[in-house]
Amino acid sequence: MTLDLSAPKCSCEKFERLEGASVNAYAAAFLEDLGQSDPQKKNHFRCRACGRLWERRAPEVKTGSTRPSLVRVS
Ligand SMILES: [Zn+2]
Repeated sequence: MTLDLSAPKCSCEKFERLEGASVNAYAAAFLEDLGQSDPQKKNHFRCRACGRLWERRAPEVKTGSTRPSLVRVS
């Protein structure tokens, strides 16, 4: 395995969940929107750096949250 030091390093292994403004910021920086090529994968993302999969979830009303979240699924 080679290590490409020119590639920006993602932070996927450091957290399992993101919320609020960081969701869109992180998605824009590292994640590929799988829903663009496959409508069935709407709200699913794959990290361009490490390949981990993420799912964007709508705000969960029952928890009182009004912000979307990004949950790591692999
Ligand atoms: Zn990653």
